[in-house]
Amino acid sequence: IVSSWGGYIDFTPDAVPVISAVDSIGGAFVAAGCSGHGFGAGPGIGHLAADLVAGDAAIVDPAPFRLSRFADRSKIEVGAF
Ligand SMILES: Cc1cc2nc3c(=O)[nH]c(=O)nc-3n(C[C@H](O)[C@H](O)[C@H](O)COP(=O)(O)OP(=O)(O)OC[C@H]3O[C@@H](n4cnc5c(N)ncnc54)[C@H](O)[C@@H]3O)c2cc1C
Repeated sequence: IVSSWGGYIDFTPDAVPVISAVDSIGGAFVAAGCSGHGFGAGPGIGHLAADLVAGDAAIVDPAPFRLSRFADRSKIEVGAF
């Protein structure tokens, strides 16, 4: 072995990113948990995050990406890859 490297894959429990306001902390937003697709999905994640922060109309329905899904008793289903 000449060289090696490693890194974290930032998975969420349902493999769907969190792109969301943090309800308990006013003015805080999260765009993370890209679940191994952060390079490919980055432009879309950034667009939706910017929409949420700016209060603009969201480019897609933000509901599936809300942080609160892990705390509001929503049924958590692993997303399609
Ligand atoms: C081996 C591997 C292969 C991958 N292959 C693909 C692929 O083929 N296609 C694809 O789309 N995605 C791929 N990904 C996933 C992609 O790399 C990630 O989804 C993406 O990099 C996440 O981007 P991010 O900006 O959310 O987080 P990151 O790139 O992790 O950036 C977070 C930054 O925050 C910094 N940070 C952390 N804590 C603190 C702190 N307390 N204070 C200040 N700074 C802090 C970190 O140093 C880091 O620079 C791969 C990931 C890995 C590990």
